[in-house]
Amino acid sequence: MTVSEKVSYLKGLVEGLDLDKDDKTVKVINAIIDTLDEVAECVSELELDVADISDQVDAVDEDLAEVEDYLFEYDDDDDEDLYEIKCPECGNTIVADLEMIDNDEIKCPECGASLQLDIEEIEE
Ligand SMILES: [Zn+2]
Repeated sequence: MTVSEKVSYLKGLVEGLDLDKDDKTVKVINAIIDTLDEVAECVSELELDVADISDQVDAVDEDLAEVEDYLFEYDDDDDEDLYEIKCPECGNTIVADLEMIDNDEIKCPECGASLQLDIEEIEE
């Protein structure tokens, strides 16, 4: 039972008593019920607002996760430091990271030629 339903039920109970509306005590009871009715309406509106905001937060959370994924990927690519080296023997383009380049030397996977590298020159 929601708060609104409880207040409606209470209203029905009081109406069923068929009380004298001009009686001071009955006026107080009716005023209390009217106030409860307004409070229940406010609570219902707030519940709807909270549900809306919750949906929006979920959407923002999903968007943020996508942004994080993008930034993470971008960082990975940035950290890898890939170099494209053209083999002077066979013309094959070798994509290598720093780990593959040992002592400024790399072996061409196509023709097996050992290539002498100048890292500083490649970075430019
Ligand atoms: Zn080669």
